[in-house]
Formats: sequence, C-alpha cells, structure tokens
Amino acid sequence: MRLIDSHGHVNADRFDDDLDLVLGDARRAGVERILVPGWNVRSSERALDVVADRPWLDAAVGNHPHDAAKIDEAGWSMIEAWARDERVVAIGETGLDSDRMFSPWDAQLENLRRNLALSLATGKPAILHCRSRAGERDAQDALVAELRAAGFDGEAARAAFGNRPPAVIHSFSGPVDYAETVIAMGLAVSFSGLVFRRGEETSSEVASLVPPERLLVETDAPFLSPPGAPRGRNAPEFVTITARWAADRRGIGEDALEAFGVGLVAAYDATFPRSLPR
Ligand SMILES: [Zn+2]
Repeated sequence: MRLIDSHGHVNADRFDDDLDLVLGDARRAGVERILVPGWNVRSSERALDVVADRPWLDAAVGNHPHDAAKIDEAGWSMIEAWARDERVVAIGETGLDSDRMFSPWDAQLENLRRNLALSLATGKPAILHCRSRAGERDAQDALVAELRAAGFDGEAARAAFGNRPPAVIHSFSGPVDYAETVIAMGLAVSFSGLVFRRGEETSSEVASLVPPERLLVETDAPFLSPPGAPRGRNAPEFVTITARWAADRRGIGEDALEAFGVGLVAAYDATFPRSLPR
C-alpha cells in the first residue's frame, strides 16, 4: 500500500541516532512522503537539514502554541526567511492549545496570527494543532474565529491558494460540527494515532466526512503511538495503522486499500505541491 505521513517530527532529537534506519523502515512500509514540521526556531532549522538530500521528504517551518511565548523577533526573522525555501511546503506547526497551556492564551493568539499571515504571504498551507480539555471545544471555536478573521474562508485564501486547501487540521480532535465547518472552509484534515484514544470517538464519524482529495494521515512521531506501535517512540512506518483505520471508517475493504493509498498520495501532493523534483 502506498502511504504518506503528513506530519512526522523526524527532526526531533529522539531520531538523531538512527534516523536513516527509521526512514528505511518507513520506505519499506510503503511511505513515499513525509512532511517534517518544525515547532520552534531550532526544530524548523533542523527540519530543513533533515530534508536536504532526501527529496522524498518535505519541511514545514513555524512556531507551535506551546512555544508561543518563547520566540523573539530574531527567531521570527529566521522562520520568515526559511519559509521561502523551496524545500518548505507548509507553515507550522502552529495552532491553539487550551488543554496544556504551556504558553499564555494571548501569546498563542498572537503567534497563530503571525503564522497565518506567513502562510498567506507564501501561499503555503498552515499546519494547525488544536486541542481543548476533554469534553470542551474552546480552542476549536477560537481557531475557526481566527481563521475567518485572517481571511482563510474568503478572498485572501483564494488569492493565495486558488483551489488548494489553505490549511491542514493536523491530528484531528474535536466535535463533528467543527469538522464540518473546517471542511466547508476548504481545509484538509489529517488523522493520527490520537483517534484510538478515549474521548476521541468523534474522529470515527469525521473520517467518513472528509472529501478524499483533502484526506490525510500522519503519525505525529515521536508522539501519539497508535495501538501496535511502540509506546516509547512512534515512527512514520506506523502510519499504516491509522491509514487502515481511516479506510475502515470509510467502508473501504481490503481489495480497495491499494487505490485508497494512491488517493492519500494524491491528496498529499495536491495539498503540498512542490517545485523541486522528488
Ligand atoms: Zn506535531
């Protein structure tokens, strides 16, 4: 089965010692593309290092809500310069997190706005992390409001992206009507091993709602191991488990898995077009 990992942090320190082995395992599992997102200045730079000389990998640069209060102007100048690099196909990851609140809410909002502005300026989709406390939806509602305020459902997004998704909801989590809203706005939705956790049952329904050309799967490695992957460190090869889950939710049988994988690669390429040859 052909596969993609739309969000794998192989730029994390935990892959430093055996990165080529990890990537080899991913290739053998069928993974043909990995998007490697930064979460702060240092990891964004490392994402560029990791994708250099590995043309089947793509980078994203940006600043995560957890790091919203830690970045300074010098850091932003670097991210804004890297964002124009041909190896960078998306901006992020960014977003909002009211669950863990590692940065104050106002700093998260300001950080999100800056990432969204960079996304519109470069025409590279924003990668959006969004988590609320269990049973709540404040972060999701705030994210939709911010996307609207930044023009992601209107003229600004059409001018920057044409018919392409202007953003990706990474590691989907949230209520069904929130999913319907972001799908109606033209966003892509990516599912991770989070879908297997208690409290994330809505994902099963949402997986059948996303149009095929905007449906993505990911690992968020080294985090969010699905059942069957090592608890300690998730890796891109295990995206197979989540891809099979998504196929199952969409009523796709064993005999159609191959075509489903082809569709995942096509959705990735449509969402993250790149000028460099693979
Ligand atoms: Zn991530």
